[in-house]
Amino acid sequence: MRYSAWQVLKQGLTGHTGWKPAFRTPDPRPSYDVVIIGGGGHGLATAWYLASVHGITNVAVLEKGWLGSGNIGRNTTIIRSNYLLPGNEPFYELSMKLWEGLEQDVNYNSMVSQRGILNLAHTDAQIDSYARRGNAMHMAGAGGKLLDTDGVRKLCPFLEFDTARFPIKGGLWQPRAGTARHDAVAWGFARAADQRGVDIIQNCEVTGIVREGGRVTGVDTSRGRISAPKVAVCVAGNSSRVMAMADRRLPIESHVLQAFVSEGLKPVIPGVITFGAGHFYVSQSDKGGLVFGGDLDGYNSYAQRGNLPVVHEILEAGMAMMPSIGRAKMLRSWGGIMDMSMDGSPFIDRTDIPGLYFNGGWCYGGFKATPASGYCYAHLIATDSPHETATAYRLDRLRSGHPIDERGAGAQPNLH
Ligand SMILES: Cc1cc2nc3c(=O)[nH]c(=O)nc-3n(C[C@H](O)[C@H](O)[C@H](O)COP(=O)(O)OP(=O)(O)OC[C@H]3O[C@@H](n4cnc5c(N)ncnc54)[C@H](O)[C@@H]3O)c2cc1C
Repeated sequence: MRYSAWQVLKQGLTGHTGWKPAFRTPDPRPSYDVVIIGGGGHGLATAWYLASVHGITNVAVLEKGWLGSGNIGRNTTIIRSNYLLPGNEPFYELSMKLWEGLEQDVNYNSMVSQRGILNLAHTDAQIDSYARRGNAMHMAGAGGKLLDTDGVRKLCPFLEFDTARFPIKGGLWQPRAGTARHDAVAWGFARAADQRGVDIIQNCEVTGIVREGGRVTGVDTSRGRISAPKVAVCVAGNSSRVMAMADRRLPIESHVLQAFVSEGLKPVIPGVITFGAGHFYVSQSDKGGLVFGGDLDGYNSYAQRGNLPVVHEILEAGMAMMPSIGRAKMLRSWGGIMDMSMDGSPFIDRTDIPGLYFNGGWCYGGFKATPASGYCYAHLIATDSPHETATAYRLDRLRSGHPIDERGAGAQPNLH
């Protein structure tokens, strides 16, 4: 069934009895050409691009929980391509271009909304660094504009400008950035991949990676063994645990990141705003809730929940940037498990075990990367060579002295 305005009208006039399930719930088959471990955004996007770009449809996506139970359904929905470093910027700009056509591509309303992102600057040095980043963005075709204080005031008059401990000196504005409905992204990719014949298998946990003669031949799962000459790991916060099944250690630590939603308010925030004197970012959902977050909890964990000190720290930063937020009631909070790499950048690479591929290390910025990650991972799996925008995301880059340290924080995962 194709979704369209006509279909909505037809179903509305016939009592909504004709809608079909968005995707099948098949049992696993004994073998596939490709098995993808992890039915998050990246795994599902990989399946879609394998099917749609490379014609590889004998694919299974194995998900231990339900679709959307991981970070794809837990993030603060921000999409942007305002990066600095050459290893990153072209990749994230590819992602932004894919976001721009995504809903037509997969025929699903993922509520992609290019409402813009504003990074606030509070010092002259920060303005200089934003000018540099803006130039890198323009070189990659990502656009962007450096605003002075008046420019920021025009866009967001409700911010704390005059009596602030952190005066606002300007900001970097990327109008093409914005938000997307996170779980609808998973459902859209899942539905589109399913329609091309991909099996999406929920409640199927991978418990072992099977190797024979030094190469991968399949996986053991909670629903039996599945053979495949190509196994693609794509499990975000569980990367270290799954790769340990193949006796491999990763330059990745798992950390908790929390997100928060306020009660519904009238429209106030025009796009996404990030505080430059602390770690705080906020947008407003279409239902009116302020959606916001900040730093990691800062300790290693596989728990999908966080602690109160970070709640305090994040709300404090929010109050400093936008004191009116203090009158809003907070409704919900939750946590997700972040795969924090040593330099803050991801990996999309083959491993040293033939047939085993790895995608991870997305830290807390992997939602915006979802389409490009799937696109480039599918390219790697299908052709055994990296996509041109993802050549820097090698697993051996730290050993060979080629980190991509966007934040300049050094080899400490919880600082990226
Ligand atoms: C609170 C929070 C806020 C964030 N905000 C943003 C943001 O605003 N912008 C942004 O760009 N990024 C953001 N992120 C990061 C982003 O959500 C992640 O980087 C990205 O979603 C990770 O990729 P994924 O969607 O594939 O992960 P996931 O959805 O976590 O998918 C991995 C899947 O693998 C499954 N799995 C694990 N082990 C196994 C196994 N053994 N067998 C089978 N399946 C397994 C898991 O159940 C999970 O569903 C945020 C994350 C969090 C938690």
